[in-house]
Amino acid sequence: MIRQFVPESACLKCAGCCRFKEADSVWLPCLLNEEAQELADREGIPAVSISIDKKIQPKPNPGGEGFVCAFLGCKDNKCGVYRFRPFECQLYPFLINLRNKRVLLTVDLNCPYIKDHLNSKELNEYIDYLVSFLNSSAQIKILKNNPQLLQAYEEVSEIVELKLSDEIK
Ligand code: SF4
Ligand code: SF4
Repeated sequence: MIRQFVPESACLKCAGCCRFKEADSVWLPCLLNEEAQELADREGIPAVSISIDKKIQPKPNPGGEGFVCAFLGCKDNKCGVYRFRPFECQLYPFLINLRNKRVLLTVDLNCPYIKDHLNSKELNEYIDYLVSFLNSSAQIKILKNNPQLLQAYEEVSEIVELKLSDEIK
């Protein structure tokens, strides 16, 4: 599990995540190969549809417009697979971004918790932790084996180029 920066209590109040404007949104959670297999094998989990590019297919939002993650409990705003939620979900509001063949660690400034903590000591310390984690040889290997996670997100703010860039150039 990736250490978290945004506390669960802030997310439960915010309800900004796990919701999508379009059914094929780039923001849909994308799975590592082993996560897709784990979700298929694990008992007690509702079967969900996973696309060929390993994205969890959303369901129409029962309470309004757009779509929600198939694992989101719309009444309590909780993730139905929280303890083993995908790597990408653990990483958010940070994202791995592919831009002009550069692999970047980026952050979504639309997250209100990030906005409130911009330039704080806690955020800077967390970023140091995250960069070191993502630049570890184990993580580089995982991401190299899962190129579906390298996506082009718009409107995110660049933090730093990751070592993985050198591996894919
Ligand atoms: S936008 Fe930020 S605070 Fe809101 S639910 Fe997502 S991660 Fe949590
Ligand atoms: S798997 Fe859980 S955390 Fe990830 S998008 Fe779905 S409901 Fe949200």
